[in-house]
Amino acid sequence: MDSKVKPAAGTQTTCPYCGVGCGVTATPFEVTGDERHPANQGRLCVKGSALHETLVPSGRLLKPRIAGEDRSWPEALAAVSSAIRDAVAQHGPGSVAFYLSGQLLTEDYFVANKLAKGFIGTPHVDTNSRLCMSAAVAAQKRAFGEDCVPGCYEDLELADLLVLAGSNAAWAHPVLYQRMQASQRAGRRVVVIDPRRTATAELADLHLKLKPGTDTVLFNGLLVWLRQHEATDQSYIAEHCSGFAETLVCAQEVAPSVTSVAAQCDLDEDDVERFYRWYADTPRTVTAFSQGINQAVTGTDKCNAIINCHLATGRVGQPGASLSR
Ligand code: SF4
Repeated sequence: MDSKVKPAAGTQTTCPYCGVGCGVTATPFEVTGDERHPANQGRLCVKGSALHETLVPSGRLLKPRIAGEDRSWPEALAAVSSAIRDAVAQHGPGSVAFYLSGQLLTEDYFVANKLAKGFIGTPHVDTNSRLCMSAAVAAQKRAFGEDCVPGCYEDLELADLLVLAGSNAAWAHPVLYQRMQASQRAGRRVVVIDPRRTATAELADLHLKLKPGTDTVLFNGLLVWLRQHEATDQSYIAEHCSGFAETLVCAQEVAPSVTSVAAQCDLDEDDVERFYRWYADTPRTVTAFSQGINQAVTGTDKCNAIINCHLATGRVGQPGASLSR
């Protein structure tokens, strides 16, 4: 929070529509962007700006219903709790599962997890917000030993080379995209990797319209190219990584040369070479990847191929040199 900006009158809360998590100030009449919030600094996209319109009474469920009939809250809560109690009595706590919305706030998840794991005693709690990122979760566990995102929003602004892989941020994360746009400056480059020409590609200095599903080839090729051109950080690898030699052998089998990568990805050789050169020459490189990478049967391998290039160059968790998803 920026303590120099006075909070606007109203209730400070969070827009629940996407993972950017913009801060909003809500009053009974309107919703505005919270200027003190670190994610959006007062900006809101059209979805966030229209949040209050979802709170009109018509079309909303204003009372609990059981078997199609309006009931009081105590009756509804009693019905749910007795159903849970019956299931636990007959089949044990593991018979109860919670599937939560991705639109809940962190505090809501905390309370739901407390109820499920701490009180009822079931481990079965999941949300669509976790499932849609499960490929990245598995990849980060493989690469780092835990599910951690080493980058933050500020890195996207600090990077001199921003690589957006499978990410149409202009539509999916509009406020973050606005921050990326606002941080454009001389010498900063953006590479968009996406088979489609999306709105995000308008920001691109280089748009690699690769054949769908060939991201792993492109990034394995980058790893091989970086090593061939002595652009890897050998001391970082020695100190922080294991299995680099084996990884390189696998990458060489998949993507031995720029010619092979270009042919497999259906890209121009010069464009592939240009991307690799920019990546090698730009210490402050951030790769941000989204559902175009995650949501595939090979999503975990795609994520790992991206992470491996950052590990090989020591660009993890540094200002403007990291990864984000
Ligand atoms: S980018 Fe838009 S939808 Fe996402 S949190 Fe911000 S205001 Fe809400």
